[in-house]
Amino acid sequence: MTRTTPPRPLDVEAAFPPLAAHRRTATRLHPRHGSPGVQESSVAGPLLWPADEPWPVCTAVHPKGTGHLLSDVRLRRRIQEGARGRGYTEDEERLLTAPTRGHHAPDLHDGDPVPSLAVAQLYARDVPDLVGPEGHDLLQVLWCPFEAHGDARTIDVVLKWRRSAEVGAVLAPQPEPLVVGRAECVPDVCVVHPEQVVEHEYLGLLDEGLQEEIDAWEEGLRDEADQVDDAEEEDDDCSVPPRSYATYEEYEAAMAAARAEEPEELDYMSDLSIAPGWKVGGFASWHLTDPAPVDCGVCGAAMPPLLTVDMWECDGASRSWLPVEDRDASDDPRVIDPTGVHLGRGLMRVHTCPADPLHPHRLSFQ
Ligand SMILES: [Zn+2]
Ligand SMILES: [Zn+2]
Repeated sequence: MTRTTPPRPLDVEAAFPPLAAHRRTATRLHPRHGSPGVQESSVAGPLLWPADEPWPVCTAVHPKGTGHLLSDVRLRRRIQEGARGRGYTEDEERLLTAPTRGHHAPDLHDGDPVPSLAVAQLYARDVPDLVGPEGHDLLQVLWCPFEAHGDARTIDVVLKWRRSAEVGAVLAPQPEPLVVGRAECVPDVCVVHPEQVVEHEYLGLLDEGLQEEIDAWEEGLRDEADQVDDAEEEDDDCSVPPRSYATYEEYEAAMAAARAEEPEELDYMSDLSIAPGWKVGGFASWHLTDPAPVDCGVCGAAMPPLLTVDMWECDGASRSWLPVEDRDASDDPRVIDPTGVHLGRGLMRVHTCPADPLHPHRLSFQ
């Protein structure tokens, strides 16, 4: 099934023509649980990795044997998935509440090489915004699942660009680490449903004049909404007797219907600028910190985000980006948090150099 972002609630370039100069496309990946093959784009699926090529390993010095067994992380997610809608059995409850963090691989020393975890592979034919080195049509992403690297103590991301046609025999089985630092560093296996959308630059990075125009427009919208609320309150006072409901379900249904009638709240940041969820290309949102420059360490070029790894497909504020096909499943964790990955305070980006995608990438977090 494809995934379709609803049209933006406002043609923002018609309202603010200078925004046309701050437009970029992004490809939303819309990961959903599935069983992808090596010839498909995926999150955490098998990689089209040559049988005769060494798998990336982390040789950085950090504790590698303490954390959670990868097999435990997967078992718990299977149990949670299987119990959906029926609740847990006693055995499941016991298993899920048992501590899993431990010193699971005492023989593993801090400097020993451990295999990186396969996180994603993306074919350019599926992902129009995937731009890599000339002639390379496949990006493979792996990381060391310990937040222990560099000054910022983050996961360590490995990017591998390939010409997929040059891969013969594929490596199987594929190596993976025994232990991971945190369960939220482990993505669930997902197929992807790439969809190209248009984004506009983060508000705080627009020219000041344009920011002020947008702020004033939002202020106007809020005033209008307040007036509507006041008028409704007056109506309520005189005419409508308070209703009672026979069951809680009836009450909930009435409230949901009332919510659906309310005009959607609209603002630039949530609805009109930057898409939530896993994506390739587009802009970086700086909603938790001030914008920070991400420049190439080799040539100094400003590095746009190549891949954004987001905890949420969309959250409450960005609900207008929920795909049409998922409208009836907007509370389903398999839709809202499809990959189970939570890095930083919810969001991690891999930036690459526009002058040469092989210059070392950089990470940013929100
Ligand atoms: Zn590592
Ligand atoms: Zn560069």
